[in-house]
Parts: sequence; C-alpha cells; structure tokens
Amino acid sequence: MRINFNSVLICLASLAAIITLPAKAELNVFACEPEYAALTQELAGDKVTIYSATTAQQDPHFIQARPSLIAKMRRADLVVCAGADLEIGWLPMLQMKSNNRDVQSADKGLFYASDHVQNLDIPVSVDRSMGDVHSLGNPHVHLDPTRITQLAKALSNKLSQLDSENSAIYQSKLTDFLTRWQQATTQWQGQAQELKGTKVIAYHSSFRYLFEFLGMQQVGDLEPKPGLPPTTSHLMTVLDIVEKQQVKLVVYTGYQDEKAAHWLQDKTDINSVQLPYTVGGNEQATDLFSMMSQHIALIKGALAAQ
Ligand SMILES: [Zn+2]
Repeated sequence: MRINFNSVLICLASLAAIITLPAKAELNVFACEPEYAALTQELAGDKVTIYSATTAQQDPHFIQARPSLIAKMRRADLVVCAGADLEIGWLPMLQMKSNNRDVQSADKGLFYASDHVQNLDIPVSVDRSMGDVHSLGNPHVHLDPTRITQLAKALSNKLSQLDSENSAIYQSKLTDFLTRWQQATTQWQGQAQELKGTKVIAYHSSFRYLFEFLGMQQVGDLEPKPGLPPTTSHLMTVLDIVEKQQVKLVVYTGYQDEKAAHWLQDKTDINSVQLPYTVGGNEQATDLFSMMSQHIALIKGALAAQ
C-alpha cells in the first residue's frame, strides 16, 4: 500500500491546530457597569468572555438602549448589573428586545448586585416631586469593600450554578480574591482613620457607600434633586452649607458636571476633586483594588493640598 505522505502531513497539521486552539471561554457575560465586569473578571478569569455595556465616562443612570447592546445581551449567558433601578432607564428595554430567556430571571443568568447586599437610604415614600430618586435605596453599592466581599461570594455561586464543570476553578478564584481583598480592606481601613468625620459635598449619591466605609459625611449635594443639573439658587444653598458646617471637600466624578464643583471651589477655600467612581475612571484605576486605593489617595491628596 502506498502512503500519501502529503495527506499524512496535512492530517498531522490539522490535529496540531486542534490541540493548540485556545480553550474557548464557557460563559458570555454582559456587565452593565465596569465595576461588575471587573468583579466577574476576578472571579472567573479566562472561563468567561466579558462585555461591559458602559464605560466609566458614562453615567450609568442614562444610557441609550442601542442595537449593539441588544445584540450583546441576546448572546449573554449571564447578565450582571447593579440593580435596584439604577439601570431602569435602559435595562428593561434591552431585556425585552434581546428576548433572551436565559438572562431574564435571577434563578437563571440574571444577577443584580443590590439583591445580595443591604441598600442604604431606602425612602419611606416616593413621589414625582422628588426627582429621579432611588426608590429601592442607593444602588451604588460597589464602593463599599464589605459589600464587595458579599457580592463576590454570591457572584461566584452564580458562576458555579451556570457552569458547574468549572465550579472548582471558581471556588479557588474566589478564595484567592477574598484573601487579597481582605488584606487590602484592612489597609484601606487604616488609611481611612484620619478621614473620619470629614464633611464633604458631592454630586448625586454616587459615593454614599465610599463615605460610609471611610467614616466621612456628605452634608450637601450639587444636584438640587436626583437626576437634575445644579441651578444657581441651589448652589447658593450649598455654599451656605459649606460656610456653616466646616465642609472640607467637594467630590464628583468624570461624567458629572464639574462646573458646579469648580464654582464652589472658587467661592470658598475648599478643594474639589474628581474621583474615578469605577474601574477605568482614571488611568490608575485599572481594577477594583486600584480603584479603591485611588479614591482614598485622591481624597487625602486634595485635603492635604489646602
Ligand atoms: Zn444614582
């Protein structure tokens, strides 16, 4: 029998190609915000392909339900969002139009962070005159390291539920993350000692959980009502608070109107500082660890500079 060496070579080459193909990620994850993309990345590594619907430069309250987002959600095995109505202006539309049953229910591939931690500031009653108030409590929960710990455990369970074959990997990644996160949290708590009791003005309630963790106190808001831009008369009220209450700092993030913060800085002797808010919010905030470290370093830097 004559062996066709060319065919053998081709066969061997194809076999090698199959063997060296990179392992395909098992789960497609759609994260509403960069912080949840980052948390999923920590817990799942190369077992998932992650898409973040928003960047740190976008206000997560106000996103357009673009066709590209609908297409991404259609292919998702897991959707991870803040929940508690943070995304109420765009997520329901994506859920409806993508028509992906796998990610419509929390029993399956839908994970709302706010379902797994206690939300602060749940209003007793809400009416329209209050603006875009968060009626289910403050959904910006990722800025509290303790809540991130709870979220990591719950999200890791969800990954194992959806992809049980890799459950041991998710478990070991969780353990590794929690060890590093706990060490970092202890450091942050130490660094926060000197910030306790510091009064700040901020834009919206975006940093509520960060201030809670650091022992700081937000005594005024640049927004007259949630979701509304600052007005001159409102800023005069805030100026009065700064003068009467020994406020030390004005805080805002990249997608918020910096003019109001700068105006207040010019009218008083306190500094304003732009914080990253989420992963990617500045060049240094490349993951959840550096995001938290940046918040503390920038706040301390701005306080020391005045
Ligand atoms: Zn909000």
